[in-house]
Amino acid sequence: MKRKDFFKGLAFGTLSLPLVIRGLGGKSVGQRQSGAYINTTKTYEWDMVTTWPPNFPVLGEGCNLLARWVEEMSGGRMKIKVYGGGELVPALEAFDTVRSGAAQIGCGAAYYWAGKIPAAQFFASVPFGMNAQQLNAWIVGGGGLRLWEEIYAEFNLVPMVGGNTGVQMGGWFNREINSLEDLKGLKMRIPGLGGKVLERAGGSSVLIPGGELFTALERGVIDATEWIGPYHDYKMGFHQIAEYYYAPGWHEPGTALEFFVNKTLYDELPVDLQQIIQSAAAKLNNWMLSEFEAKNAIYLDKLIQEEHVKLRFFKQEILDKLRDYTAETLEEITASDPISRKVYDSYQSFRKKAGFWSSISEERYFSQIQEKQTGVIN
Ligand code: CA
Repeated sequence: MKRKDFFKGLAFGTLSLPLVIRGLGGKSVGQRQSGAYINTTKTYEWDMVTTWPPNFPVLGEGCNLLARWVEEMSGGRMKIKVYGGGELVPALEAFDTVRSGAAQIGCGAAYYWAGKIPAAQFFASVPFGMNAQQLNAWIVGGGGLRLWEEIYAEFNLVPMVGGNTGVQMGGWFNREINSLEDLKGLKMRIPGLGGKVLERAGGSSVLIPGGELFTALERGVIDATEWIGPYHDYKMGFHQIAEYYYAPGWHEPGTALEFFVNKTLYDELPVDLQQIIQSAAAKLNNWMLSEFEAKNAIYLDKLIQEEHVKLRFFKQEILDKLRDYTAETLEEITASDPISRKVYDSYQSFRKKAGFWSSISEERYFSQIQEKQTGVIN
């Protein structure tokens, strides 16, 4: 049977889950191997399904790096083959594919699963929410990971934070946004919570896959699109078809990327391999933010100096209103879902404390200490 057919079969329930797990792991569920008896000759060949196109800059590259590091750290005992979205299963089936054990590990961003788990969005990004540093602090040191693990365990998955985009840009527009009126009727590709907020402001959020975005914007199917930041946006070529590049990315102040591992298979792994996967994800979390920050700085300059992109900033009154709409949107989501409420309460209480600390540390640093860097603005 060809691989694709195999997965298609799974989707229609023609293979039972226990059969798949026995077939992949070679051990029955529940036999945990203790660290003292690690079998160093047993090897593992895993498949990773991702939500990114194959070898996608930074995001897909990150998945390849994780696979390489795991293989190197384990001395070849674990090999992970990375598949881009659509290669084994469609991008947005990654979650269910790993949940069922048909692939062992997946990569994406938790807000992709908001339809199944509304609370998952808090582990990716929230408009006007925490930036990368604060989000990492909440997940790693502030109780976020415990909640995330609890929620994903219900889906037989183990989550790991595995990267962050940093503060994103506000998007590409072909007309200036000078007032809230200008958002009315605006057709923009802006997924997730940001899209819901734009709709409250009178715009419409359009869902278009990344690969079709350029054409959609070029042909005027949409008026605007957000993507990530200067480096990735440059690669997508949006500067060729849009006149204005807006900052800041109010809707994604620091989006976390995730890995999720089938929990049954994870629990069966020797402790050292569990730690190796965790360590590779933690290393990637650092690598990805550093990579985005380094490249964004270079490519913002390139976009302005070489491509003559017109940089613009959202006015404070627009941002203030969008913040109000965000609060209303979050209130609505958390009122109807107790798990979202629990996660949001943890997120908010951490954010308040972290926000005060940031205001006397980072904010003072940027406003009073760091030498001002004023680049060219077209
Ligand atoms: Ca984005």
